[in-house]
Amino acid sequence: MLACSQPPLRCHYKTVKAIHSQNTWLGTLKNLFMVGSFVYICFALVSDKRYQRKEPLISSVHTKVKGIAEVREEIIESGAKKVVQSVFDTADYTFPLQGNSFFVMTNFLKTEGQEQGLCPEYPTRRTLCSSDRGCKKGWMDPQSKGIQTGRCIVYKGNQKTCEVSAWCPIEAVEEAPRPALLNSAENFTVLIKNNIDFPGHNYTTRNFLPGLNITCTFHKTQNPQCPIFRLGDIFRETGDHFSDVAIQGGIMGIEIYWDCNLDRWFHRCRPKYSFRRLDDKTASESSYPGYNFRYAKYYKENNVEKRTLIKVFGIRFDILVFGTGGKFDIIQLIVFVGSTLSYFGLATLFIDFLINTYSSKFCRSSIYPCCKYCEPCSVNEYYYRKKCESIVEPKPTLKYVSFVDESHIRMVDQQLLGRSLQDVKGEKVPRPSMDFTDLSRLPLSLQDPHVTPGQPEDIQLLSEEVTPRHKDSPHWCQCGNCLPSQLPESHRCLEELCCRKKMGACITTSEPFRKLVLSRRVLQFLLLYQEPLLVLDADSTNSQLRHCAYRCYATWRFGSQDLADFAILPSCCRWRIRREFPKSEGQYSGFKSPY
Ligand code: GDP
Ligand code: ZN
Ligand code: ZN
Repeated sequence: MLACSQPPLRCHYKTVKAIHSQNTWLGTLKNLFMVGSFVYICFALVSDKRYQRKEPLISSVHTKVKGIAEVREEIIESGAKKVVQSVFDTADYTFPLQGNSFFVMTNFLKTEGQEQGLCPEYPTRRTLCSSDRGCKKGWMDPQSKGIQTGRCIVYKGNQKTCEVSAWCPIEAVEEAPRPALLNSAENFTVLIKNNIDFPGHNYTTRNFLPGLNITCTFHKTQNPQCPIFRLGDIFRETGDHFSDVAIQGGIMGIEIYWDCNLDRWFHRCRPKYSFRRLDDKTASESSYPGYNFRYAKYYKENNVEKRTLIKVFGIRFDILVFGTGGKFDIIQLIVFVGSTLSYFGLATLFIDFLINTYSSKFCRSSIYPCCKYCEPCSVNEYYYRKKCESIVEPKPTLKYVSFVDESHIRMVDQQLLGRSLQDVKGEKVPRPSMDFTDLSRLPLSLQDPHVTPGQPEDIQLLSEEVTPRHKDSPHWCQCGNCLPSQLPESHRCLEELCCRKKMGACITTSEPFRKLVLSRRVLQFLLLYQEPLLVLDADSTNSQLRHCAYRCYATWRFGSQDLADFAILPSCCRWRIRREFPKSEGQYSGFKSPY
């Protein structure tokens, strides 16, 4: 798979190799996942109309408020209270506003007959004074209504306030009247005309269709398409009372949502109206609740300019138009289908997760002792082994050793040279399972030409008798056949390894060792098998046979080639092979790390 090893311009095709398992349980699980994914994708496609190209809209809004209100005002004229009744029509209670908004006055405070002059401030904590020293000439307080003259004068009775140059008399600081003066504004109606356009689809429509009955009133269920709204009904929809909001004023949002399906076969493009209170209804008295502003009506009386100041409380209605228009688009459909293909891969991901989780590690953990969970675990472990190849990062210090009296292989990371390999503990690695197909290819019959047909062959078994200790045998040897290493002191420990962990018979005395590792005929055959036209001359023969014997031993005892490359031969085997195929002159060079 090394990309750099391939010619860059050659046309080639690579594909992924899959593992096919016959397990019905896993198959059913996969199919269930597939069906689930397919149903979900179809559902999303239809319910969300993911086959459509969605475009935003642009819109214009026009409103008309209608209604008459009768207002009873209490005014004080020459010291006496008087009730005045007046009729308010559209021009009186609506004000032109910018954007998609309109305003309806619901309450007001009037200060009549103001003219430019000097007068005392309205008494509050900040404006009260006792002498001229409490006031400052030319001082302009942003909260105040005029410029101070520096004098402290009587406002009423014994109350004294600073004198200001302003519109006099100064507006009184008063609470909004309760109940609201234009409480009957809840019966006003507003007609909302809304034209929309989807520039992306070149489609225009409006909420006010020609055949519409103009005497209708909007009702959420009975008349949801009528664009004429009663103000009181709007507040009822949001759970508020018009008469409460009317006192201080407020802001109400009217949302017009267009979800248009512009496909010819399912064409539908009608608005949906909803309402939302936009101001903070929990605001307390100190945080300026409601919605109000001031405006003045100017007039001239006896050639003196005068004005009536009105603090207006009311409701601002903001109309918010939004939505999308969708139309079938083949590109969108392809993009959606493409993006959902990965969902089908979820099945493999999930099943792999199950296999990994419930393989041997999990099974053998102390929480789940291997008893009733064992069967599925062993199946999973089988799949896991087939699917995953675990590799160890190759390092010059990494070695594998195998003892004939242990069922596993040991992986040793011999960072610190200096201890003989025999004593290093290492990590247990399972021995790769034996592949008998390789063995059957070995021409075993080559070795024993004298077998008499019909007679049972006896294979000499490895006896547990301890071989008499060789006189040079070092202290770490357990089989009695090992010899001290010839390597320099610093590398010696690499060869200090016996074929056994505990005392016992040596592997070199076994039949397979003789037949697989020491047989000259087998080794010669293997060399020729590798290179059919190899010329085995006298000089190099022994050397080649010896190296081939090392490889034979490593592959026999360590199974996979990867392990064999890092496998260390026990001293007894190494010397037995060297004795069989000796080197005429010079020292043996010993193990060299392949990386
Ligand atoms: P030489 O023939 O004089 O070089 O000396 P040796 O008989 O020690 O053989 C050296 C070759 O055998 C080198 O290629 C080594 O990598 C290989 N070899 C020697 N010992 C081991 C061993 O313990 N394990 C493995 N895997 N290879 C070995
Ligand atoms: Zn030994
Ligand atoms: Zn041995």
